[in-house]
Amino acid sequence: MVEENEISVNLMKACKYLENNGYLLFVIGNLPDVSNDVVNQLCEDIFKKFPIKEFYVCNHSFKEDCNCKLPKIGLILDAEKRYNLDLSECWMVGDDTPYVECGMNARMNIASVSELKNIFGLEI
Ligand SMILES: [Zn+2]
Repeated sequence: MVEENEISVNLMKACKYLENNGYLLFVIGNLPDVSNDVVNQLCEDIFKKFPIKEFYVCNHSFKEDCNCKLPKIGLILDAEKRYNLDLSECWMVGDDTPYVECGMNARMNIASVSELKNIFGLEI
């Protein structure tokens, strides 16, 4: 069993490696019904620890039909526009269906953490 701290250290190393190789790192996700204050605090905590460029979150409820809830690509399009991204050069790294589907919908490259876990037999 991998400890949470070990995951955090490995994730930090991976983020630093990617940043040093010219990648812009974004966090994207659904946090349904989570208040803006909580989202802002979460972002602040992550910014302190990881070299994340920006945080894109849909915190609408599951019932709302917004364009930003993954697997829809509203948040991706915001990042594309703001940072002038070429989505065919971008990677979506995620651990379940909305992330993988979102990456596919946006025609991005996809790295499924679940598949990587299975390939390497990791317990996370
Ligand atoms: Zn939304």
